[in-house]
Amino acid sequence: MVRRVAVVGAGVSGLAAIKGCLEEGLEPTCFEQSQDIGGLWRYTDQAEEGRASIYRTVFTNSCKEMMCYPDFPFPDDHPNYMHNARLQQYICKYAEHFDLLRHIRFKTVVTKVRKRPDFSMTGQWEVVTQRDGKEETAVFDAVMVCSGHHVYPKLPLDEFPGIQKFKGCYFHSRDYKEPEKFRGKKVLVIGLGNSGCDIAVELSTVASQVYLSSRSGSWVMSRVWDNGYPWDMLVITRFHTWLGNILPRALSDWLYVRGMNRFFKHENFGLMPLNRTSRKEPVFNDDLPSRIACGVVVMKPNVKEFRETSVLFQDGTVQDDVDVVVFATGYSYSYPFMEDDSIIKSRDNQVTLYKGILPPQLKKPTMAVIGLVQSLGPIIPTADLQCRWAVKVFKGRGEKKKRGGGGRKPKAAPLFLPYLPRRYGSSTTLQTDYVTYMDELASAIGVKPNMLKLLLTDPRLALEVVFGPCSPYQFRLMGPGKWSGARKAILSQWDRTLR
Ligand code: FAD
Repeated sequence: MVRRVAVVGAGVSGLAAIKGCLEEGLEPTCFEQSQDIGGLWRYTDQAEEGRASIYRTVFTNSCKEMMCYPDFPFPDDHPNYMHNARLQQYICKYAEHFDLLRHIRFKTVVTKVRKRPDFSMTGQWEVVTQRDGKEETAVFDAVMVCSGHHVYPKLPLDEFPGIQKFKGCYFHSRDYKEPEKFRGKKVLVIGLGNSGCDIAVELSTVASQVYLSSRSGSWVMSRVWDNGYPWDMLVITRFHTWLGNILPRALSDWLYVRGMNRFFKHENFGLMPLNRTSRKEPVFNDDLPSRIACGVVVMKPNVKEFRETSVLFQDGTVQDDVDVVVFATGYSYSYPFMEDDSIIKSRDNQVTLYKGILPPQLKKPTMAVIGLVQSLGPIIPTADLQCRWAVKVFKGRGEKKKRGGGGRKPKAAPLFLPYLPRRYGSSTTLQTDYVTYMDELASAIGVKPNMLKLLLTDPRLALEVVFGPCSPYQFRLMGPGKWSGARKAILSQWDRTLR
């Protein structure tokens, strides 16, 4: 019988976990190593150990109607895409509104999570924490891991011959905060992800020259889509998902590439992904094409070799007098507090989690990893639904009942569902299709909108649910955890967007 739940981390996932537990009558205790909530979104001038670190100008890539907690829309007057400080304010308001703070122990780091000796009978965990040098051990019936995955920098220096000889300075993007100290410098940014593009664009306003090196290109999308509406409200819809699933592969790929090239033709900018039909997470940057067009950012292929003051690229070109190199090379997944880290297996992005949440080899399903999946969709509603699903599983009600029912061990299964490899390829196993994934979790706990019922009883709402954005409110429209404001929020989402 699960009652006491330990939540590791009080970022947006940890808050969803606390609320998910409270909704089901469980007793959450959340441990947060820093002094406040927000995780990645709480900007500090210095990177803190064990917590994600962002640069001063990070804005969201998901718009406010798609990124909110499903029962707590953003205030009307907020812009569609937000600066990190504004998002942090919203996160604090959410925690206050649902009275979540009293379940959090701040400045308390989880140093060890291990199975109790009788785990196979009880499913219980021992959680060791440290606060002010004092160690405490407590027993919990379940653990929700919400410690984030943009924390441990991936800095593959061995893939860059000659880097030891390089006399300029180099560092990982985690340590980048603001552009001023790079005024007048020649900077090379390595990596064409969201951070790499943001940093290259920002530095191009002060540096004497920015080079942006990419191994395999990326789709670069604009936040502002057709007629100026937010991209995600137009792209992430049930109708689009359904089309993508039923169309022949060749046609779906063609439409995808056409959609991605709608902002500008990637080939002309040296950005074309090597695998053009891969659904690798796109990059969101409204300014990069214009910075390239103005010549202040110059695209480069992969680095072949570093020399003392210059860099040789794969195409044979050499850039002299490079002062600074920023490695925007991403992050590795790591759970240093897990005594047995093979429970959440992490090797070359190969994580094996049932539904992207539960370690499948556990004898009792009493651990959930929240917020690890990656999709085109936003993390907040994903984490909210993952937590609601996980808590039901803890209580033995997360799956359709079979004989023998509750609390049984979930069948081992790959991270994602069988239809995903077709579109996502094997190198991106953490990637999933947002609507399909959300519906899968929602169906299992009885909160997926019933389209037939909606069509018969509320056709206006049904049309908005199918053809409009798959906004978070849809998953609080009916079933357990229903929010009475969901219908109104769905029908007024475009008004708030225009506001
Ligand atoms: P985090 O925010 O990383 O929080 C984890 C918390 O756990 C931290 O507070 C940390 O201190 C705590 N913690 C860790 N280990 C321990 C421990 N051992 N003991 C106690 N506490 C611990 N997603 C979107 O949906 N939309 C966006 O627009 C978007 N933009 C992004 C931009 C950038 C630059 C980056 C890097 C990511 C972006 N993301 C975006 C993804 C982002 O990861 C999520 O939005 C979200 O912040 C993840 O929340 P989380 O709670 O899972 O993890």
